[in-house]
Amino acid sequence: MHYTGTIWRPPYEASSLLLQAAAGCTHHKCKFCTLYSDLPFEFRMSPLEEIETDLKEAKAQLKPWGQDRISRTFLTGANPFVLKASRLIEIAGFIQKYFPGNKTIGCFSRITDIALKTDEELSELQKAGYDALTIGIETGDDEALAFMGKGYGSEDILAQCRRLDEAGIRYNFFYLTGISGRGKGKQGAQATAHICNQLHPQIIGASMLTIYPDSGLYQEIQKENWQEESEIEKYEELKALVKHLDIPLWFGALGASNPIPIEGTLPEDKGRILSVLEEIIEHVSEEELQNYRRNLRHL
Ligand code: SF4
Repeated sequence: MHYTGTIWRPPYEASSLLLQAAAGCTHHKCKFCTLYSDLPFEFRMSPLEEIETDLKEAKAQLKPWGQDRISRTFLTGANPFVLKASRLIEIAGFIQKYFPGNKTIGCFSRITDIALKTDEELSELQKAGYDALTIGIETGDDEALAFMGKGYGSEDILAQCRRLDEAGIRYNFFYLTGISGRGKGKQGAQATAHICNQLHPQIIGASMLTIYPDSGLYQEIQKENWQEESEIEKYEELKALVKHLDIPLWFGALGASNPIPIEGTLPEDKGRILSVLEEIIEHVSEEELQNYRRNLRHL
C-alpha cells in the first residue's frame, strides 16, 4: 500500500479500509500542528493508478477474511476533501469497483475544503457515498482560530457545516483543548459549545494541546506572545465544553494527548462525564498531568 509518512486516522475509523488519496496538508499553517512534518513535501495528491493499485492489493489481502466485510473506506491525508468533486467521485467509483459492499467514504476535511464545492457537488458527493467527514474545527473561539492561523472563523464553520447538513453529509468534529491559551480556556469552550449547538456533529473528539519544539506555537511562547494553559485549566475547559453542549452526540477524549480517557453519549452520560472531570480536577495533581505530557514523545 502506498502509505506515506505517519498515517493519522480518528479512533472511530479503526475498522475502515485506509486508502491514501492524498498525503500532507494543503494549509500547513496552524501554529500548533506538527502532524505532517515527517513528509518531504507539503501536499501530494495520489495518482489514480496508485489508488487503483492499492485497492487491488487490499482486495487480495482481505480475500481470506471476505472482502464484503469492508463497508467503509477512510481516505488518508490531512484534507483529501480538498480534491475536486470530480476526482473524489472517480475515487468513489474505484472503491465501488473493488469493494462493491462499501457503503460510505470518510476523510478529514478542512472547513475551507467544503467552501470550494458547490451545493450541487456536495449533493453528488453524498450520492457517491461521502459521509461522516472528520473536521478539525479545533474551537469556536475566533481569537484562538485567528492567532493559530486556522484560516477560517466560527461563522465559516457554521456556514459550511450547514451546507453539509443541507447535502445530507454527516460530520464529526475534533476539538483541541487548550487552544485558547492561559486564562481563556472556559471562554473558548463556551464559544465552541455555542457553535456546535447550532449544528449537528455526530461525534466530538477532543485532543489536548501538546506543544512540540518544532511548532510555530513553541516559537510564539519563546517570544512571550502566548501562554499555555495549565493541565488543570485544560480539564476545566473540557468540563465547560461538555457542560454547555446541548445537542445529542458521542463525546470522546481518547487519543494519547488525553492523560485520562473519557467517553460517553450526550445527553445521557453528561452527568457522569462531568463527575469524572470534576474528580480529575479535584484529585489529580498538576505535576502528575504535566509529567504525562512531558513524556509524550509522539501524539
Ligand atoms: S491542523 Fe490540520 S489543517 Fe492545520 S496544518 Fe495541521 S493538518 Fe493542516
